[in-house]
Amino acid sequence: MFNKILIANRGEIACRIINTARAMGVATVAVYSEADRNALHVQMADEAIHIGPAASSESYLVGSNIIQAALDTGAEAIHPGYGFLSENAHFCGQCEAHNLIFIGPPIEAIVAMGSKSAAKKLMADAGVPLVPGYHGDDQSPALIKQAANKMGYPVLLKAAAGGGGKGMRAVHAEAEFDEALDAAKREALNSFNDDIMLVEKYLLHPRHVEIQVFCDSYGNAVYLFERDCSVQRRHQKVIEEAPAPGMPDTLRKQMGEAAIKAAEAINYQGAGTVEFLLDSRGDFFFMEMNTRLQVEHPVTEMISGQDLVEWQLRVACGEPLPCSQEQLQINGHAFEARIYAEDPEHDFLPATGRLKILQPPLESANVRVDTGVTEGDEVSIYYDPMIAKLVVWDIDRDRALQRLTQALSEYRIAGLTTNIGFLYNLATSQAFKDGDVDTGYIDNHQQEIFRQRDADINYAAPLAGAAILTLRRQRALASANHSSEPNSPWHLTNSWGLPETKIGIKLQTKEINLAAEALPDLSNISIVETQSGFDLFTPKGFFHCAETQPDLGLANDKISGGSLRAPMHGTVVTLQVEAGVQVKKGDSLLVMEAMKMEHCIEAPSDGLVTEFYFQPGDLVDGGAELLAFEGSTE
Ligand code: ADP
Repeated sequence: MFNKILIANRGEIACRIINTARAMGVATVAVYSEADRNALHVQMADEAIHIGPAASSESYLVGSNIIQAALDTGAEAIHPGYGFLSENAHFCGQCEAHNLIFIGPPIEAIVAMGSKSAAKKLMADAGVPLVPGYHGDDQSPALIKQAANKMGYPVLLKAAAGGGGKGMRAVHAEAEFDEALDAAKREALNSFNDDIMLVEKYLLHPRHVEIQVFCDSYGNAVYLFERDCSVQRRHQKVIEEAPAPGMPDTLRKQMGEAAIKAAEAINYQGAGTVEFLLDSRGDFFFMEMNTRLQVEHPVTEMISGQDLVEWQLRVACGEPLPCSQEQLQINGHAFEARIYAEDPEHDFLPATGRLKILQPPLESANVRVDTGVTEGDEVSIYYDPMIAKLVVWDIDRDRALQRLTQALSEYRIAGLTTNIGFLYNLATSQAFKDGDVDTGYIDNHQQEIFRQRDADINYAAPLAGAAILTLRRQRALASANHSSEPNSPWHLTNSWGLPETKIGIKLQTKEINLAAEALPDLSNISIVETQSGFDLFTPKGFFHCAETQPDLGLANDKISGGSLRAPMHGTVVTLQVEAGVQVKKGDSLLVMEAMKMEHCIEAPSDGLVTEFYFQPGDLVDGGAELLAFEGSTE
């Protein structure tokens, strides 16, 4: 085994790798950017080397600095984690040139799978089933469009160099094609410095089912079963599980064997994941192979009882695979929920800020929290806004899901916007409980997940009122107990001795007055006070509410209008309409780019833009007015 390895990554994955290395008696070297000087991974490693400024293009992505750090510290091997340099063939070559072992596949395998189009050609030759599509070299827009027209809509445009859902656009009709191609190419160029596109049939309601494979240098290959990663927003995974719900054994075996065929076709070694789309008839199609450890690998570890990072280290230093296919078994069920600093109510825009309170649920044999941050840390604009991965396990899916919702309701984060409430709503939605998932799940269950239906509001409003009242009474009692004048009117539990006849709350977008005496008892509800109000976890989902002044004549059912302010710091990419021209509600008015993702500002109603305050290329602050909009009066 190695004596010392360097981890060319940051955050939770760096910490996770350090944990296994330590357990195996392998010393670790961390690298860090200026922004990460005090980060958890730096504290955990045996040694740490500074490799540059905050921007990853000047630190975590600079291969030569990382190689130098390994040479200076005497590390024998480099673990790239995921993202950054993990699938970078050039970096892999640099390691080889300096006699450092790259803990990952051979260069040729990275190259073979590096382009989605080239990989598809290779897989077609190996007899692995593919989604019908065009992945040719001729990139003229007219030709790509012609291929799309021939296939029939909907189609999906993908960046050949893509990853993380970037540079991807679904196109539902020929009329939308040109604009979608432009946007996908722009995003691809921006993220990958490469705008080669492929187009394929957009399958409706498929599941994303991927197979974990492992190969060693002796020709052994196994699959560690599947993960279902169908629940996605912006084509990025949010909740993953293993095994896939309702997966028949025969299909599991077929997909496992197809994945091994894919890996063997490129002489694979180490940990890899073969991603498939699975349709409702049980047909599956190769999408791509990720030649690294995946974010969601913990669910596989939980059901297989194996440590995949340990396997990686063993295979990289020339040992055979620790297990044969026959020795591997599925035990129970696991979920992973990705806790992000982001705003689900605003198209999942990444959020930044300081983690003023960070209290994860207690870890146990059933609950695992992989994280790279501690309370007080900053989630900055420089890196991925993932705060943690919450992983749970139990003997079956129902029980594991119960663990997940329980753990989510215990997670306390304050200081920035997170997706915890959103994840809770997803996990408690009926079709998810039934295991009836597909890649359109979030879009197709918007109403249930965002809890804006009248029935949801009517259910939650009295609970919110009761919870606020209870909290207020508890607080008054507590301060009275600590006071030298316990009978002072300041401590009256009904605040100021006024009769508590009404309580005003704002729930989602509605403001409601409730009669205090009619509020229900609280059972099975968890309430957390936040900076902007209260978070309520109920058996029927998560609700955010705030207290308002009652009796101010606030109209019920007041829906806030669409905002034409910038949702975050970013750059204006294009103006989509001309000022003074009539537009329809929902038309795209302006495209902004932030964190390499494009965000569209849409018309809140029929009307017209009277003035744009910014031009393409301008930097705008989050919250800045972007344009003046006049709604139609008829
Ligand atoms: P990336 O590498 O950017 O993550 P993938 O090719 O892995 O992109 O696709 C990401 C997700 O996009 C898939 O999990 C699936 O939900 C969706 N997707 C990809 N290809 C198709 C397709 N042909 N039809 C329907 N959905 C697709």
